[in-house]
Amino acid sequence: MIFFLYFLILGLLIGSFLNVIIYRLPEEKSIITPPSHCPKCGTRLKVIDLIPVLSFLSTRGKCRYCNTKISIQYPLVELLTGFLFLAAYLKFGISIQLFIYLLLISALIAVTVIDYKYMIIPNKITYPLIVISVLSAIIFDYLTIFQSLLGIVIPSLLLLIVAFIFKGGMGMGDVKLVAAIGGFMGWSYTLAGIFLGSLLGSIIGLSLMGLGIIGRKTRIPFGPFICIGAVVMIFFGDTLFNWYINLFL
Ligand SMILES: [Zn+2]
Repeated sequence: MIFFLYFLILGLLIGSFLNVIIYRLPEEKSIITPPSHCPKCGTRLKVIDLIPVLSFLSTRGKCRYCNTKISIQYPLVELLTGFLFLAAYLKFGISIQLFIYLLLISALIAVTVIDYKYMIIPNKITYPLIVISVLSAIIFDYLTIFQSLLGIVIPSLLLLIVAFIFKGGMGMGDVKLVAAIGGFMGWSYTLAGIFLGSLLGSIIGLSLMGLGIIGRKTRIPFGPFICIGAVVMIFFGDTLFNWYINLFL
């Protein structure tokens, strides 16, 4: 029970930190300095302004000092991270895998929001992730180094080929993102995740087009769908693969 609460609160706090990354990384600002401040009035935020979700609720989504509206993105990212941290704890228990997946999930949340807002996937996230994925395979041995390396190479190579054939839509950022996910999850789970993400992306893209909300040429970022597919595989990969194998037995 105590861990239950611990991981929920840890997730809310990490979510709050992810908001800082999402806000500062695309603008090439430092993550550490200056301390958090209101982007509008510049007032340095106090502890009372930095409590995940609750600060937002207590001021009804406005800056306490200048009344500027604060994006709903902030509490949503915090809640999502809290929820996924809790879910990951329930799925994996206290284990090496839990901490590795918490790291990956955090990165995927940041990538999802950044790619959605700015249409970029920063190398500053994907490169370190790729390195960490290989290092954790070597150190913790939850995946063999061979599985990790194949995970980096196979899905990204396939995506690269697809990107070459169907120019546009996908970029090098997506290729590097897939390499990073593969380094953690191995090639089969990653490919399945890309497949699920593409399926979801197509359904949403075609629906939005059908409803006339977006045009035929509107660029939809692919990264968020890759991330959603990867998260689905983290939680339901075993179940999905067992079900799939049983279809043929
Ligand atoms: Zn303000």
